Amino acid sequence: MATMSDPSATTATAAIRAVVRGEVQGVSFRDAAVRRARELDVTGWVRNGEDGTVQLHAEGPQPAVDELVAFLHEGPPHARVAGVQIDQVTVEGHEQFAIRGTSAGVFVVQEHAATAHHFDLRLEVDGIMRSWAVPKGPSLDPAVKRLAVEVGDHAKAHNTFEGPLDGGGVIVWDHGTYEQGGRVAWPQALTRGHAVFVLHGEKLRGGFALQRTRPGAKAQWLLIKRRDEDARPGSDIVGERPRSVLSDRTLDDILG
Ligand code: MN
Repeated sequence: MATMSDPSATTATAAIRAVVRGEVQGVSFRDAAVRRARELDVTGWVRNGEDGTVQLHAEGPQPAVDELVAFLHEGPPHARVAGVQIDQVTVEGHEQFAIRGTSAGVFVVQEHAATAHHFDLRLEVDGIMRSWAVPKGPSLDPAVKRLAVEVGDHAKAHNTFEGPLDGGGVIVWDHGTYEQGGRVAWPQALTRGHAVFVLHGEKLRGGFALQRTRPGAKAQWLLIKRRDEDARPGSDIVGERPRSVLSDRTLDDILG
């Protein structure tokens, strides 16, 4: 009679990266993969590749990962899977299975001359703009960690505001859409104090992280560019691109 002599055998976590080729985009493949992964308690992500493939990271108990891989060979009803490449990878500790590469909403960075000059980074989360005041502004250099002080939420209607304000002024320094990334679902990632996201702005692009260093009122965070193809070591984007993305004005133009 077989005995359960090795408890780790039942709990071992496997992790794979899969690339699915064929007619796999535009057939709800990602939605179907999310449903199947969640049924199986497998975590990770799925995204559409720019080369027409569907790419997937999956981790969980080996039998569940195997079942998800079996699903990938079939795909949803209208997919025609030509091949599936599987690579074993390191377990990353994902807590959700999510679609990557889809917009979570808008972001804006407003340069603001007030008592102290700063940049306000605002990310749309559940319909409101979560906001951080970044005294030195964002950077595309991954070696630079910028203090970001959490401030009050703003309404989306404020995102396009430019002009004089309370004796100072505001310009829209950058704007665009963003994706929520990381291993933990939003907004829980913000609650826990480590949030990873990808910006699609005119000046700011690629992965960024917000890491909370001091909780409480006016919590302190660090805003850090992640190392990816959009990183620009040694650059000073705030100095290089000072103008409004809406009006081409600088803050000095508004302050007169
Ligand atoms: Mn401000």
